[in-house]
Amino acid sequence: TKCGKEENFTNGNIIPYANIAISPFAGILNYGQGLLESLKAYRRDDGRVLLFRPEQNAQRMQIGAERLCMPSPSIEHFVEAVKQTVLANKHWVPPPGKGSLYVRPLLIGSGPVLSLVTAPEISFLIHACPVGNYHKGPINLLVEDKTHRATPGGTGDIKTITNYSPVYKAIAQAKARGFSDVLFLDAVTKKYIEEVSSCNIFIVKGNVISTPAICGTILPGITRKSIIEIALGFGYQVEERVIPLKDLFDVDEVFCTGTAVVVSPVASITYGDKRVEYKTGAETVSKKLYDMLTGIQTGRIEDKMGWTVEID
Ligand code: PMP
Repeated sequence: TKCGKEENFTNGNIIPYANIAISPFAGILNYGQGLLESLKAYRRDDGRVLLFRPEQNAQRMQIGAERLCMPSPSIEHFVEAVKQTVLANKHWVPPPGKGSLYVRPLLIGSGPVLSLVTAPEISFLIHACPVGNYHKGPINLLVEDKTHRATPGGTGDIKTITNYSPVYKAIAQAKARGFSDVLFLDAVTKKYIEEVSSCNIFIVKGNVISTPAICGTILPGITRKSIIEIALGFGYQVEERVIPLKDLFDVDEVFCTGTAVVVSPVASITYGDKRVEYKTGAETVSKKLYDMLTGIQTGRIEDKMGWTVEID
């Protein structure tokens, strides 16, 4: 078995952005054998370019590769490939404060298969494009109790491409009603909050910051992990626990974390005919955490954690 085995991916090269040729029988096209990762490269005030914790993405890809029965690149290989991609696209990294270069590594079953077996050829590829800020301001979430993003025993805790198809319809319906995104509940009891379609969630009450504990149905976000460490450093009490939906109705702040959304304050959560509003703006815990995280990511604040990797 090749499940999770580190392998050398050969023939690596940088090519201009273009469509790629793939077998119509490719494992990825027919059975969704594929993983994705997300990183952002930021430009510092002095022009240099930084990556944020890329080895964490590499590690998460390795865990996912084991689950999807694919070989995976080594951590060193992954990080080096990301670095080379960013280096080749350095001129596309926006100026400080104007966004970032979004980097998307993929590990896919590219070889042909008829049955449910690991594709005979696995490809590791990376594409990138400049992006601005994801959300323009505080977001409004709708709690969804009929659709589930992830189920126990499934693949909710790895970053597989097929984790996103279950949520398309719920997001489209929420957006049609004016909401920014959907907050999903656990699939078994529908009593506990899990995460939003592409980010983790935190709640703040006084000095206590809580986030759903990582279980088989929640993606272990790298931003989530970093925010927990930053919050502990600020002296907040941080709890990773099972969070009943009802807890959302008695907190000061809610915010979401992810590579794309960074730290996004939540202005309101709606569940059925209940709507709760939260504190947002300059004097919030989420703003303090956002400032510290983005300060480290962009090199404006000293990186005491050793989280950033310079490209050149
Ligand atoms: N949950 C899901 C389902 C996601 O797609 C993402 C984005 N990768 C996250 C959480 C946040 O993870 P990270 O902080 O590593 O981007």
